[in-house]
Amino acid sequence: MNRSERHGGVVVVGGGLGGLVSAIHLAEGGEKVTLFESGKELGGRAITRDEGSFRFNLGPRALYCKGAAAATLDQWGIELTGGIPRGSGGLVMRRGKVHALPAGMLSLLKTSAFTVSDKVQIGRLLASLLKLNPQPLRGVSVAEWLDDLAIGPGPRALMEALVRLTTYVHAPHLVSAGFALGQIQLALGHGVRYLDGGWQRMVERLAQVASDAGVTIRRGASISGLVGTDAVRGVRLQDGTEYGAEAVFLAVAPGRVSRFLQRWDKNPIHKTLDQLIAVRMSCLDIGLDSLPRPKSIFALGLDEPTYFSVHSHYAALAEGNRALIHVAAYLAPDQHSGDVEQLEAVLDLVQPTWRDREARRFYYPGLTVAHAVPLAENRGCRVSNRVPGLPGVYLVGDWVGDEGMLADAVFASARRAARQLTEQRCARAA
Ligand SMILES: Cc1cc2nc3c(=O)[nH]c(=O)nc-3n(C[C@H](O)[C@H](O)[C@H](O)COP(=O)(O)OP(=O)(O)OC[C@H]3O[C@@H](n4cnc5c(N)ncnc54)[C@H](O)[C@@H]3O)c2cc1C
Repeated sequence: MNRSERHGGVVVVGGGLGGLVSAIHLAEGGEKVTLFESGKELGGRAITRDEGSFRFNLGPRALYCKGAAAATLDQWGIELTGGIPRGSGGLVMRRGKVHALPAGMLSLLKTSAFTVSDKVQIGRLLASLLKLNPQPLRGVSVAEWLDDLAIGPGPRALMEALVRLTTYVHAPHLVSAGFALGQIQLALGHGVRYLDGGWQRMVERLAQVASDAGVTIRRGASISGLVGTDAVRGVRLQDGTEYGAEAVFLAVAPGRVSRFLQRWDKNPIHKTLDQLIAVRMSCLDIGLDSLPRPKSIFALGLDEPTYFSVHSHYAALAEGNRALIHVAAYLAPDQHSGDVEQLEAVLDLVQPTWRDREARRFYYPGLTVAHAVPLAENRGCRVSNRVPGLPGVYLVGDWVGDEGMLADAVFASARRAARQLTEQRCARAA
């Protein structure tokens, strides 16, 4: 027999960034909020491991300085320190060699990665990228956009690497060029920040703001299903307890949402969720006692979809001379895992003799960075915040909405969903 707890407010399922941000918006709007997180810790994919002298995020993390996440954190008075990586000291990897990254006109002139005519095209591109309007490119794929630019293979490889760097997507034929250009403009125009202490600092501060706003947070409490038939009226906990709610916010993976909505198997949401294409990467997160080449702090693959960055160069993530490095490969949609040898080969190229200085490592063959590529064929629109024909449920995540990508999409979808609930209440009261 199910035990039942009467409640009445709003339930948020998931204690990652999406759940925490939703809970704060809802509590600020006067709602009584309970958040359920299945894990012992809050944070989801934004957790940071404290490993002796190193603070390991789960793969590389950059907060876009002018994105929706940074704006919301600012609004809540959450100040996060850290460093903004600059292009200097950057490298590109091409045909098994490293060359200077053309981050500005001087490095473009100097780099040995490109021919003179390539450099002219890249110079023009770099000068125009920040001025272009991304909006008309929403329904165009990155591959089509680059075809239209009629640039040579070298500049094209650089553009594709920039798209991967700023979106994490390695699918130029699918991803919306408008979204990719928007991300490039955010990164090159306003910069990104690597956070001191890792993204856990953001999670801790959000959890504090949520508690101060009156949110009840229940850790180690897994939700197994939803309660209701014509509308969702609560959640069921793993131990069978039913918890009544006027609205339920689902800030979990789309696969989990699909299982929650199994009872409504005819609902068109299932087809939409099945069609999402995840953004994945393989990551080697590595701590070294010191850097063999202290000036080589960033490198981007041009003929392979690879990434290398010493995050501890800009943010407090390693003690003393130690270095915390993320090496990664962006995976294509049909690739579920990468291989560690490819990432070790990047380290061999950029930081030879690193093996003698290795202190700690974590290898992840296939992390889900975001649950949905913003597709050109949908003009970048992912899943709507509302489930058609099923009142009471709101969806939040990096796979929801048509605003921004990655954590910015999470923050934007949380704000929009909370606003929709308020509007719904106002409409009912009127
Ligand atoms: C390798 C990597 C690199 C990234 N880099 C960047 C970056 O540079 N910039 C950027 O902006 N973003 C980046 N991201 C993306 C960003 O981290 C995510 O978009 C964001 O953390 C997702 O938050 P979320 O709350 O939507 O989901 P999640 O973090 O997945 O949280 C979901 C939570 O729900 C909980 N849960 C699941 N099922 C249940 C249940 N049944 N009951 C209760 N709780 C449940 C889980 O335990 C989890 O805590 C990166 C992600 C990865 C993996």
